[in-house]
Amino acid sequence: MRVLVVEDERKLAQVLTAALQAEHYEVVVAATGEGGFSRASEEAFDLVVLDLMLPGRNGLEILQTLRQRHLQTPVLILTARDGIEDRVLGLDLGADDYLVKPFALPELLARIRALLRRGRPSEVLRLKAADLELDLVTRRGVRGGRLLDLTAREFELLEYLLRHQGHWVSREMLAREVWREPRRATPLDNVIDVQMARLRKKVDADAGQRLIHTVRGVGFVLREGEP
Ligand code: CA
Repeated sequence: MRVLVVEDERKLAQVLTAALQAEHYEVVVAATGEGGFSRASEEAFDLVVLDLMLPGRNGLEILQTLRQRHLQTPVLILTARDGIEDRVLGLDLGADDYLVKPFALPELLARIRALLRRGRPSEVLRLKAADLELDLVTRRGVRGGRLLDLTAREFELLEYLLRHQGHWVSREMLAREVWREPRRATPLDNVIDVQMARLRKKVDADAGQRLIHTVRGVGFVLREGEP
């Protein structure tokens, strides 16, 4: 699970990072509003912890823009004790939960677990992009009405790309989330590239529009149109 912490107070960011890492989350910290916004809009996260009082772009603006762009990632906002109005506004703008500073770490971790459980898209039974459709119940993929002959791994890989469509995913993320091997002596990069090439052939070869793109030096993205 990947968590983005947008927090400008260095000490608090460090404490949060340590606590989350101890629970085996991968943590990315952004110390400014701009940094937080660009990471949240370009990368895939399972959850965002968002401080509202930030230099530059404040948390509420970030939240509003992300939701306007249909980013569904759960957001937990952190507000100061006197920021009650901000808290209400934050929930109105699409935050999923909030905590008032100062808070106890166990409480934060419990809220995060609850959000991640809730955020599990178990109710989503079908994923789509252009004329590509993945049925998560029958575990079949169809592109332009043509049934794709996918192995179990290819299916999982495509599911992961579709769940993060429009956002790039790194080989590291794929190793962890699809191969479930976060720490291996030899990186899985070659294995992933080979699988990705096969998947691409099946998904994109006979189609008019390419959906799976390589982002040089970064990883891959599934999206309609060129990245
Ligand atoms: Ca702050």
